[in-house]
Amino acid sequence: MKKLYLFAVLMGISISTYGQIVVKTPLSDRVTGYTFDVELDPEAKTVSGIMNAYWVNISENIVPDIRLHMYPNAFRSNKSTSSTESGRSLRGSHEIDFGWVDILSIHDGKGADLFDSMKYIQPDDQNSNDMTVLQVILNEAAMPGDTVKLNIEFISKLPSRIRRTGFADDFFFVAQWFPKIGVYEPAGMRYSKEGAWNCHQYHSIGEYYANHSVYDVSIIVPVEYVTGSGGMLISEDEIDNGKKRVVYRAEDIVDFAWTAWPDYLVAEDEWEHVKIRFLYPPGREDQVGRQLAAVKNALEYLGERVGPYPWPHLTFVDPPKKGAGAGGMEYTTIFTSGSVDKIPEFVLMPEMTTVHEFIHAYFMGIIANNESEEPWLDEGMTSYWEVRIMDHYYGPGKGIINHKNFGISDWSISRMVYVMSGDNKVVDNTPYSWDYPGGTYSMISYKKAATWLLTLQGIIGEETIDKVFRRYYDEWGFDHPTRSDFVDITNEVVTELHGDRFGEDMNWFFNQTLYGTGICDYKVDGISNSKIRSFKGMMKSDTGMVLRADLTDGDTIFHSVVRLQRLGEVMLPVELHVHFESGDEISEQWDGKATYKDFEYWGSDKILWATIDPDFKIAMDVNLINNSYTLEPDNVPVKRFMRKFVTIMQFLILSVTV
Ligand SMILES: [Zn+2]
Repeated sequence: MKKLYLFAVLMGISISTYGQIVVKTPLSDRVTGYTFDVELDPEAKTVSGIMNAYWVNISENIVPDIRLHMYPNAFRSNKSTSSTESGRSLRGSHEIDFGWVDILSIHDGKGADLFDSMKYIQPDDQNSNDMTVLQVILNEAAMPGDTVKLNIEFISKLPSRIRRTGFADDFFFVAQWFPKIGVYEPAGMRYSKEGAWNCHQYHSIGEYYANHSVYDVSIIVPVEYVTGSGGMLISEDEIDNGKKRVVYRAEDIVDFAWTAWPDYLVAEDEWEHVKIRFLYPPGREDQVGRQLAAVKNALEYLGERVGPYPWPHLTFVDPPKKGAGAGGMEYTTIFTSGSVDKIPEFVLMPEMTTVHEFIHAYFMGIIANNESEEPWLDEGMTSYWEVRIMDHYYGPGKGIINHKNFGISDWSISRMVYVMSGDNKVVDNTPYSWDYPGGTYSMISYKKAATWLLTLQGIIGEETIDKVFRRYYDEWGFDHPTRSDFVDITNEVVTELHGDRFGEDMNWFFNQTLYGTGICDYKVDGISNSKIRSFKGMMKSDTGMVLRADLTDGDTIFHSVVRLQRLGEVMLPVELHVHFESGDEISEQWDGKATYKDFEYWGSDKILWATIDPDFKIAMDVNLINNSYTLEPDNVPVKRFMRKFVTIMQFLILSVTV
């Protein structure tokens, strides 16, 4: 579904104060838009002021209400859904520790007071103590095509001990901070059958979902504060009482976050059309070059393979130690990396976090899926591209640790989290974020999905999967796809490039991975080389009984067998590499379906060793040690020891530096 609702676009332009100033033409439908006039009070830890917003009814339905995310209320009490789910009550013991948002007045575009028609609802869990979704019954129901305007006076108190959003002393990271309009899904959009609001409560696990919007934001802060946001800085003017007003404009982003702290240092850089602004704390000057290089690597790699980064600006923030809770989070055109002081150069954690969070600009920022309902479409895809980028730029086998004497790849770390988890068969990739059974959310939605995407790449090839992602970007950029849309595009591209080489479509793959809980494990079960006993004896012939021998003395023929075994439930096509005593090598293909499969050879050569999946295409294979089998020539103890040693070395090499 990729329609451009012209009226929405026109609405976006006409409501905006500044018109079109960031990108040349609107990138999205701009179903919603916001103008803010707010002030940060660094003592009270509040942001308060006026929000003017609009929402366009792009459905065929008459819509009686508007739903708003009131996410600061997740920190309002120990009975909120988020607090209850996290299993620990809010640790706050003082008023200042809690966070909340309160609407002081609300009017529609015609001035009608909607204050008495506000009601907190709990569409996910009916927890009456949760105040994170607000329903506002409109004075006049919105007809198809109508634009509903809201004027809201609000105050948000930021929570202490930053949990993505909040404050630490004079450091502020301000995210999910205002009454934000949910997504009305018309019939046919994603899973919507009849048209309905999709506006989830704030949960302890999971992320967000919103329309691409336009933001004009004016913020008053003390004059000594350095600010950054997902927008383009329009102006910064000193006003009275030691304060200044900063004005930002952001176009076609799904969330507007900002930060303010007097101690930020600022580095500026450029990559092609993108002006990069990096805010970092004193003490990390030595990492500026590293983090800027990482973000430029990611811009280049994804620009070439997936699609252009469409905005002319990008801000990223390395929070100080006291604000570390804001680190490693993304809001499109602004994201936070995360680091510590004096991290050695061979430990690539700051680069990895920067790359990971930047990739989210594509997989929640541009191709904006519903992160609450289908987290893998964001986190799994992001983790997959993170592996590719890190191992590409920092060396194969060295994407996470790049020491001159040893290395650890992002590929191996990423898959090991999945393959070594005792819970990796618990659930498939379809639950909502908060429905993953105990502790499996990250492992399944980040690492399992990344590992099967790497496996998909192994099967269909890098060029093909790049084309899949490019088309996914082209067709679903600035829209809201589901997993079925990704599967459909994969099927389309694979068929175009490979015909029926992989079957009628790739559903057999997705059924076992995205929709399946099985694991994949292939093993070379054994090798044998048996001498063929040739016929030798008396046979009757025209001339009477004669001695016949099929082979002359000195000839030896072997019947050699490599036996493969499928130990897991998942069936994938695998390659087999067979190495003979003479040095000859043979590659074989197996559809991987049977429990056992023998590959048999007759000849004077004996098999020495065999390896299944020699190029590590099947990243999902949970045990790489059993992928190889080397024949023991005899049972001399020292050789047995060597064999064990070689196996251990293989494991180390495969799991650590591949
Ligand atoms: Zn992520």
